[in-house]
Formats: sequence, C-alpha cells, structure tokens
Amino acid sequence: MANPPSDLIAAIATAPGRGGIGVVRLSGPNLAPLAARICGREPQARLAHFARFHDASGGLIDEGLLLYFPAPHSFTGEDVIELQGHGGPVVMQMLLARCLELGARLAEPGEFTRRAFLNGKLDLAQAESVADLIEASTAAAARSAVRSLTGNFSTEVRGLCDRLIDLRMLVEATLDFPDEDVDFLVEARAFERIEAIAAELTAILDRARQGSLLRNGLHVVLVGQPNVGKSSLLNRLAGIDRAIVTDIAGTTRDALRETIQIEGIPLHITDTAGLRETTDEVEKIGIARTWQEIERADVIVRLVDVRDGLTAADAAIDARLPAGVERITVFNKVDLQARQPERIEADGAVGIYLSAKAGQGIELLRAELLRVAGWHRHGEDVILARERHLIALREAHARVHAALDARHALELMAEELRLAQEAVNEITGEFTPDDLLGVIFSRFCIGK
Ligand code: GDP
Ligand code: ZN
Repeated sequence: MANPPSDLIAAIATAPGRGGIGVVRLSGPNLAPLAARICGREPQARLAHFARFHDASGGLIDEGLLLYFPAPHSFTGEDVIELQGHGGPVVMQMLLARCLELGARLAEPGEFTRRAFLNGKLDLAQAESVADLIEASTAAAARSAVRSLTGNFSTEVRGLCDRLIDLRMLVEATLDFPDEDVDFLVEARAFERIEAIAAELTAILDRARQGSLLRNGLHVVLVGQPNVGKSSLLNRLAGIDRAIVTDIAGTTRDALRETIQIEGIPLHITDTAGLRETTDEVEKIGIARTWQEIERADVIVRLVDVRDGLTAADAAIDARLPAGVERITVFNKVDLQARQPERIEADGAVGIYLSAKAGQGIELLRAELLRVAGWHRHGEDVILARERHLIALREAHARVHAALDARHALELMAEELRLAQEAVNEITGEFTPDDLLGVIFSRFCIGK
C-alpha cells in the first residue's frame, strides 16, 4: 500500500449553494502554525475559536470559527483545520483561495476520506459508507449506511476472516505434519466449522442483496398493447399526472420514467410505447426503444385489458421477452366489469386484477412488486452492499464450498480457504490494489 500522502489539501466541505454556514476543510502535516496565523493566536485542540479571515493584503473576507484537530485525533488522522464562515458561494471561494495562497492545494474527490483510510481511521467498507450516507436517498438507506460507517459490517467481515485464518492454520498444520491426517481435522471439527462459515456467508449475502435493492432499487417496465392503460397505471403508482393519457392509441411514444418508493425500495418504473405492428415511423422508433428498455428490466409488468384477456398479440410479445426476467400480468379496467380486484396465481404465473383509473387493487400490485424483488423486510439487518462487496461475498462463498468439496485433498482445501480469506479481506481493503482504491475514491465528491 502507498504511503499516506502528506501535503496540505483544502476544499469546501459544505454543499455548493447558499447556506447559513459554509466550511472549508484543510488536512496535512503540522498545521498548528497555519492555524495560529489564521486566528491570530495559538489554537487549542478541538475548541471553537472565533476568528477573522483576512486575504493576503489584510482585507477582511469573513468572520467565523476555526477548529483545530491535531493528528491523530481527526477525521483524516492528520492535522485538520475547519474554517466555518458564512455559507455563500463567493465568500467560500474567497476563503478557499486564501488557503491555496497559504500553501494548500485543492483536494481531489474523496481525498480526505482516502487519507482517513490510508491512516487507518476507517477501513474501506467504512469509507464507502461515508459516501453512501451522504448519497442515501431514503431513510432506510441512510440508517443502513450509518451502521456500516460505525463498523457493524466490518466487524462481521473481520470475524469471518479470523475464523478462516484459524481454519487455514489447522489445515496447514495437518499438511506440515504428515503423521497428522484427516482424523485430526475431524477431531478439531474443522469441517463443521467450514460449514458454519458457509452458512454465515449465505446469510450475509442475503442481507447484502437486500441492501443492494435498497441502494439500487429495481427497474420495472410496463409493456402492453396501446390503450390497455399503461400510462394510467404509471400515473396511479406515481400519484401524479406525469405520463400523457389519451384515448388515441399509440400516444406514448417515448419511454417515461418515474421513481417511486415502496417500503423504502426505489422502483424505477418505465412506461413504454404500446407494442403493436405499425407502419408509423415515429411509433416504430418508440417501439424499438421499448425493446431496449425491456432488455434492462428487472421486472416486466405486462398489461392487458381485462375485457379482452390475453390475446394472440400478447402471446407474441411474451415470446420475445428475455428469459429469466420476472413478470407480472395486470388485468386492467376491472371497474368496467364490476369485478373485485384480486391476485391470482396459476402455474407459477401471477395475475393482478385492478383498475388503474379507479385506483382499485393498486396495493396488490405494489405488494407483488416487492415480492418478486425478493424483499423480505430484514429491517435493521440489511447491509447496504456495493456491487464490489456482493462480488467478494459470492467469491468467498464459492471458495468455502470448494474447500468443503476438497476435504480429501487437503492441499486444495488449504488453497481454497486462502482464496476465501482473500476475497473477504477485499471488502475491508486489506488486499485491495492501489488502482482499485483510486477508482473507489474518485467517485466521491470533492471535500469528502
Ligand atoms: P396506454 O396506451 O396503455 O398508455 O393507455 P392509457 O393509460 O393512455 O389509457 C387508455 C385509455 O384507457 C384512457 O382513456 C384511460 O382513461 C383508459 N383507462 C386506463 N385504465 C383504465 C381503467 O382501469 N378503467 C377504465 N375504465 N379506463 C381506463
Ligand atoms: Zn401510454
């Protein structure tokens, strides 16, 4: 791992725009003289000092507070100074410019958090959760991020890692002493312990998938022939008049997208052009786009008019849908048949009878969307996993199972356990190559 960089960096830490307070943050080695220069006296650690901020020629930029956090008790683990002024974009820029004159350079995106990681203040999973907390779009996601930040996920991952190390030592000891054999491992209950780790990885993966749902949501695409009520259903789900609803078949030509939340899960719902044979050039473009949307969908909601039921045209659409994608069929316009909304399951296919226009049965569809998404309300257990974490957990899981399969080839077993440990370590950053670190931190914004 690279040595921690040690030059002086500065950035505006508060969000762009106007606010009551704005903060410029500095991090680097030995900042006491700089702090003294800015506030005109020796600053005390972690105490707020009233200060006047002056430019190079002595003109007043702003007045506010200076906070000085000497290393190592700071966010980055280096000396940190925070200058709190009034939160206007111009005054913040002037204050930042002054810091640059005093020898700082502009921080790169995520550089403060990167330093915190390199100085051992946070592990990689915690550093990522700083970004996740800031970017959280629902309260559930924010709660999950802050649990990761305080180290819950990291502690579990380290626990797994320690157990893998113990097992590796056991297996390798068996290899080193030829007169020890499998019986020795059986006695040490090694196989049970590997099985327990596999089970724990399964459970963590499930919670991580839930978190991934919470973070990324689900892409839902509404498809069906013209006039079955796709736009009406999107409006009903979104609760606003977003898509254009008309009586003229073929009016929704562009894909329209709404993001709604059900139990904190973001659902990105796309309304599409009605799928039908057409000679209209513009409509053809809309239909081509619909097929592109369908390719990216997690769930396809196929609408039909309850009065017509499934027609030959619907069967033709069905035949072209990608395999493996979740489908729900909605029989819309039950109000026209004075029919009650309901959910019917036959041969594994689910049909929801509802009325988009009258709003009956919408809750059945919402529940069904959560069900096919695989959401099972873990509550506080959810891990706000990133794709990278899911990949590492899946890899570790596969390796642990391979280790179990190799119980009669102990060298292989030791190697699989080693690879499992490596995969787990990647989550907290112990084995993370520098270029990957670069990618992770570059996605942060400046000032973080
Ligand atoms: P799309 O072409 O599939 O997007 O269909 P629209 O949402 O534009 O609806 C076509 C027509 O069907 C409009 O006149 C809607 O008011 C009507 N419609 C949609 N849903 C219902 C429903 O549940 N009941 C009734 N009675 N009419 C509906
Ligand atoms: Zn429409």
